[in-house]
Amino acid sequence: MANPVYDCAIAGAGASGLFAAARILAARPSMRVVIIDPNSRCGKKLMLTGAGRCNFTNSNLDLASYNTDDPAKLAHMLSQFGASDTIDFFENVLGVLTVNKGELYYPATLRAGTVVDALRYFLEEHGCEMLFETKADKILPDNGIYKVITGDGREISASNVVIATGGITYPKTGSTGDVKHLTEGFIDNRDLTDFKCSLVLLIPDDPSLKSLAGVRIPATVSLGTEDRKKVACGELQITKDGGLSGICIFDLSGEIVRLVDAGRTPVIHVNFCNAEPGECCLMAAVRAKMFPERSISAALSGMVQRTVLEYVLKKIGYKCNLPAKDIFYNDLCRIADALTAFPFTITGYGKPADAQVSQGGVNLSALDGHLQIPPHPGIYVIGEAVNVDGICGGYNLQWAWTSAALCADGIIGDIRS
Ligand SMILES: Cc1cc2nc3c(=O)[nH]c(=O)nc-3n(C[C@H](O)[C@H](O)[C@H](O)COP(=O)(O)OP(=O)(O)OC[C@H]3O[C@@H](n4cnc5c(N)ncnc54)[C@H](O)[C@@H]3O)c2cc1C
Repeated sequence: MANPVYDCAIAGAGASGLFAAARILAARPSMRVVIIDPNSRCGKKLMLTGAGRCNFTNSNLDLASYNTDDPAKLAHMLSQFGASDTIDFFENVLGVLTVNKGELYYPATLRAGTVVDALRYFLEEHGCEMLFETKADKILPDNGIYKVITGDGREISASNVVIATGGITYPKTGSTGDVKHLTEGFIDNRDLTDFKCSLVLLIPDDPSLKSLAGVRIPATVSLGTEDRKKVACGELQITKDGGLSGICIFDLSGEIVRLVDAGRTPVIHVNFCNAEPGECCLMAAVRAKMFPERSISAALSGMVQRTVLEYVLKKIGYKCNLPAKDIFYNDLCRIADALTAFPFTITGYGKPADAQVSQGGVNLSALDGHLQIPPHPGIYVIGEAVNVDGICGGYNLQWAWTSAALCADGIIGDIRS
């Protein structure tokens, strides 16, 4: 019997590939769709998202939260399929009840497995074929359709091929940057931005930070000068090797990685008090007066974690056991300045294995409004394989859903203007 010609072959059973298949089959149940993935099950990375809870979107999809080569096109795409469309699809097509914590949305079960299961059940019920432990190795044009050649030499013919192979981070989940070779012959090298890490830990030029390993502290971190300053808030974590991690670090890491790769040594300023310097100085003065007999680090320990306070005091040349009563107001202001804008020079960053997202991939500007490669109708690139990445908070998965939905709409012929 001759091999079937699928309506759509999707390389990648991650967030974007699964969603594209579900969107196609929800609208056109008669379409023949096959998904190919080297893993033995679908949604391996999706299972890890949101610390296992899957923060799947954000109701405030501001463009400033994304990095891409084509912000105007991204804004248009997010306006066509945004957070409310995702929630609607989750609730009314996949049957996943959702909850929100402020702007952040999760499945009501707070389990990423619920989302993976819902997609899998839906695809199985709609006859989607899944070829696991199989890699897409090459895509070749073949008389108006395409042939996907798999790693084990099989040929899969399809009218449309969707490349949903992700980026380069967490390679143990299967994403190893394959979009580069899969688009060979379809995309000019100039339309590919090299993959780099984002949402990744940063390595400061201070080995002594190891002494704070395990510390978790709410902080505000800034990069750049007043006229062009980026600020991020959230938990800051010190890793066992003295790296800086946590949401506030991740959210600035994309830009810092680009600067470090360009040979620069960016400096970030950490505000450990989440207060203005003047306010912090006043709080310190009040405590020094309340507890004059205590050491300065004990007197101020109700304001900032003591280990962090002692690290900062030592770095700016104060003895931690100095009695609070012997500290002048000017010294308290100096301490407050350091606690509210402590500088760290960044010299490196973590490995792809530890980064949550990739920046780079096929430039958005090289794709049409359905994520199709214009000179090659029927070839689509979606998800993290495209040069779009976001900060923490559901932005990356939203891009996976948006790009998948618009691609699916292109395939089912629901071309929007
Ligand atoms: C620990 C962690 C937590 C995260 N938490 C969140 C969160 O809470 N919210 C959020 O918005 N984002 C989060 N992200 C980011 C989010 O998971 C990704 O942006 C998203 O999964 C990208 O979807 P994708 O489909 O493009 O790629 P992936 O999910 O990486 O899927 C790509 C798939 O393609 C397959 N593949 C690779 N090469 C081939 C090939 N040659 N042939 C066939 N198949 C191939 C892979 O096996 C994989 O299954 C997190 C990421 C990590 C690592």
